[in-house]
Amino acid sequence: MSSTVNHSVDADGIGWIVFDDPAARANVFTAAVHADLRAALAALAVQPVKAVVIISAKERIFIAGADLKWLTRLPDAAAVTAASRDGQSSFDAIANFKAPVVAAIHGACAGGGFELALACHWRIASDAKETAIGLPETSIGTIPGWGGTVRLPRLVGSKAALEHILKSALVSAKEAKAAGLVDEVVGAGELKARAKTAAMRLAAEGKPARATPPAADAASFAAARAGVMKKTRGHEPAPLLVIDLIERTSAKSVEAALAEEAVAFGEATASAVCRNLIHVFFLKDAVKKLTVDAWFPKPAAPTTAAPFRKVGVVGAGVMGSGIAQWCAARGYEVVLRDVKPEFVERGLAVVRGVFDEAVARKKMTPETAATGLARVKTTTAWDGFDDCDLVIEAIVENVAAKQDLFAELSRVVRPDCVLASNTSALPIEELAARVSGPGRTIGIHFFNPVSRMPLIEMVLSPHTTRETAERTLAFTKALGKSPAICRSSPGFLVTRVLFFYLNEACALWEQGVATDEVDRALRDWGWPMGPMRLIDEVGVDVTDFIFGEMAHYFPTRFKSSTVCRKMLDAGLKGRKNGAGSGFYTYADGKEALNPAVESFRLAKSSAIDAPALTDRLNRVMIDETKRVLDEGVLKSADEADFALLMGTGFPAFRGGLMRYARSIGAASS
Ligand code: NAD
Repeated sequence: MSSTVNHSVDADGIGWIVFDDPAARANVFTAAVHADLRAALAALAVQPVKAVVIISAKERIFIAGADLKWLTRLPDAAAVTAASRDGQSSFDAIANFKAPVVAAIHGACAGGGFELALACHWRIASDAKETAIGLPETSIGTIPGWGGTVRLPRLVGSKAALEHILKSALVSAKEAKAAGLVDEVVGAGELKARAKTAAMRLAAEGKPARATPPAADAASFAAARAGVMKKTRGHEPAPLLVIDLIERTSAKSVEAALAEEAVAFGEATASAVCRNLIHVFFLKDAVKKLTVDAWFPKPAAPTTAAPFRKVGVVGAGVMGSGIAQWCAARGYEVVLRDVKPEFVERGLAVVRGVFDEAVARKKMTPETAATGLARVKTTTAWDGFDDCDLVIEAIVENVAAKQDLFAELSRVVRPDCVLASNTSALPIEELAARVSGPGRTIGIHFFNPVSRMPLIEMVLSPHTTRETAERTLAFTKALGKSPAICRSSPGFLVTRVLFFYLNEACALWEQGVATDEVDRALRDWGWPMGPMRLIDEVGVDVTDFIFGEMAHYFPTRFKSSTVCRKMLDAGLKGRKNGAGSGFYTYADGKEALNPAVESFRLAKSSAIDAPALTDRLNRVMIDETKRVLDEGVLKSADEADFALLMGTGFPAFRGGLMRYARSIGAASS
């Protein structure tokens, strides 16, 4: 079998170790790859090499980290600890190599990839945009387990090391250099030559002596712990494990620290939370490969979907302006329409605001933002719609208004222009009843705010053609969003499941459960926000409207609660409408319970403990999702889990709603 790690010695006596898994697009570590690395090092150790360069032959990847499929197949904590010891021994062989070793990094250098680099004596990174460096292990519920928690603190100090590990984000070569994670940043084209220069220099000078980093201080560990508890409410063991580990081991010998790291790595990786987070990682990965094949008969010949270039957006309100901005930022020409000049102006101001915010948060340069903004043209008539490839309507949620609009649109646009609705609940075929060529209609359900929410429900009506679906799917991916494909059905998945849940929370509230009792129980379970607080955020008006839609489409099962209607009658629309207008008040940026809603209850007190309350609300979501799946609205429980994770804030460490349901025996596998 060919090796994943090749080695050679050049005419100047520099050894080269090249990672290039012949069977995969990425280099990742398994026990076999570690063994290949040790074999390469051992082969070079018996030759007269002056220094070694470790590099990758892959175009965009140095080493992406551990193979997560392999890692999750390890049966228990002891097996994971053994895998950690094994990997540590490879990297020890680098650190203790007889000659200096240089890491030449281009592309993703993540987790185990960066731990390998940390064991090297010098690190050079290319300034290419695909170079991304760091230790993201806590984002999948584990900790660095191949020396990262040992070597990084000894390189940059415990405080900086912890900050990096807890942030769990990969950084650019420039940022890595500023943080001391790498020693040099060079152009991608000169990486190999500059790595060799460094190797020759170290060959002459010896391994570099490094300054002792700042000593650990107890207060920074305490602050890190408090920060993690605030963010995770203690649900995720890995960040706490890594803080304890670094605090305990930063003053110990490297050998002793590595031994403790291996044990902690075993504990973290074998935990249910880690397995759940890795499952979520794979759900996200699967979306990148999503096709429409499960929904349509296989075409006789492979099709190529013509990409959209110009997008029309109708309705310049909350959603329309957000959609226009996002499309323009991703390079699409956009024409935004509303019925009055002042509405168009208001929408354009929102578009400008989102671009300005992106610049302020350093996500975009001022020039890119200006170019993006210039791509958005506006109209109160139909100027610029005749050459659109796609029109997305985001007008009021009203069947008759949308039907009229679709009928008008089919007279204005080209016959091959795809017509999409951003409706959050209405069946697409109902809206498109009077469209010429209904095969080109589809739902593209963005979530609010468009610039922050990654999910799009792509909704297929019985008429939607394969070509329309393929073109739209490619568009959602080009937008950098995560699509979930649904069959047209009231509320699709997310609106339906979420509003059944919110309605049940309102029903509990009406029976006398305190606002903060409901919210605290759900937050403690892992939700970022409780349901009553979420209604304030979504808007009491929007919530009440969708309750009405759900009651209309599911008359036998959806018994609408009454509190939102009563709140609306009293002028309480939620947080957007000022300080005192929801289940909470928001005066001076402080949240407090709103006494004005208390009279809207149907009963005065109800005794239900937090676990029973959470269980009741979870079961409503689980039952509704099961129905959605039974009705064929989505193709699989995994896809439903993914959409609910991305669209509702369902806690990722639980692994997904239906995965959770299976774990408590509430759904079959
Ligand atoms: P909005 O009230 O903020 O904006 C609607 C805009 O459409 C208004 O500016 C209105 O003047 C304009 N409009 C109405 N009829 C028009 C027509 N014939 N031509 C051009 N413009 C017209 O509404 P919104 O919150 O942006 O919602 C729009 C759609 O998106 C609805 O279908 C809604 O269900 C859906 N949606 C909303 C959210 C949300 O959280 N707000 C989330 C997802 C989907």
